[in-house]
Amino acid sequence: MKMSDITKNWTPAQWDALVLQYLPERFLTGKPGPCPMCGGNDRFTYDSKSGRGDWVCRQCANGNPMAGDAILLICRYTGMSFLELARVVEGEPAPAIVRPAHPPIRHRGMSDAAKARRIERVWSSASPLVPGDAAMRYFAARVPGLVAPRPSALRLAMMDYRHEHAVQGRYPTIVAQFTRPDGRMATVHRTALDPAKPAKALIVTADGEILPAKRNDVTALPLPGGAVRLMPPRDGVLGVAEGLETAYAAHMLFGVPTWCCLNRVLLSRFVVPQGLGIHTLHVFADFDEIDPKTRKSPGMADALALAKRARSEGLTVHVHRPLVRGTDFCDQWLTAYRLQGIAGQRAVCA
Ligand SMILES: [Zn+2]
Repeated sequence: MKMSDITKNWTPAQWDALVLQYLPERFLTGKPGPCPMCGGNDRFTYDSKSGRGDWVCRQCANGNPMAGDAILLICRYTGMSFLELARVVEGEPAPAIVRPAHPPIRHRGMSDAAKARRIERVWSSASPLVPGDAAMRYFAARVPGLVAPRPSALRLAMMDYRHEHAVQGRYPTIVAQFTRPDGRMATVHRTALDPAKPAKALIVTADGEILPAKRNDVTALPLPGGAVRLMPPRDGVLGVAEGLETAYAAHMLFGVPTWCCLNRVLLSRFVVPQGLGIHTLHVFADFDEIDPKTRKSPGMADALALAKRARSEGLTVHVHRPLVRGTDFCDQWLTAYRLQGIAGQRAVCA
């Protein structure tokens, strides 16, 4: 069944429950507060005014107002595509409406200094990548044939996956350093891996709730502007992509050193750091399906927003998009890699 058919008779509480699977409860107070996507103090309100997880933010569209429903909120917050979220909703029972006795407000009152210490601790307890470890095997599976400098911004750790104060399991976890343009670490992004095979972990709670394998730790500094610096820029040239995997795939396809911004919203906000001599920026977009509401491909729209701003700042900018709608550069690299394999076999046979 399609997501729209599944959700058409949902109650407002069910929509709230869906949102709570992805966003911390502190954003769902119904009162103005900080925006989970773009920060601030009071620009965001989750009012659920039509009972579908409705929200409004005064600045979410590159400084302009934006409003939407639970689906848009979850996609923007997590970086999931509409199709990824639809697949999860279609594959699961309706979200259970559980009002926890103690709202799971995590890290409330944690000072910025304490948050910075926490992410330092997570980072320093993880180990540099070595050939054949779980992280390298994962990247080799997603981007076969990958050749790239060993990333100093990525590490690997065995970590408990916590959700609402409960440990859901222990997973090999890729820890990515998310760095502000001034070089300070803003957060660590974590990708939980399957302990047995080179894939993301499938994390399911006792209630059957599927949790995201990828997520940020606490945010010590604002994220917009930053990136995971996977490799050094070369000759003043740098690329940016949404995901770790798409960044590596774009690097293989175009030979451009590429950083990862984690999601399209942060990609649109990326700021080229000063002092690295970067004069040319390649933007590697995810070619998302058209959003029926905006009539735009969200990944393309955000890539173009970055390109426009970077050009206005005097950079030479090239926007690249995959050949096929609904794909990203990881898909495109896989196709190219397989065709190379076929071409190679032909060459041998000939
Ligand atoms: Zn916002």
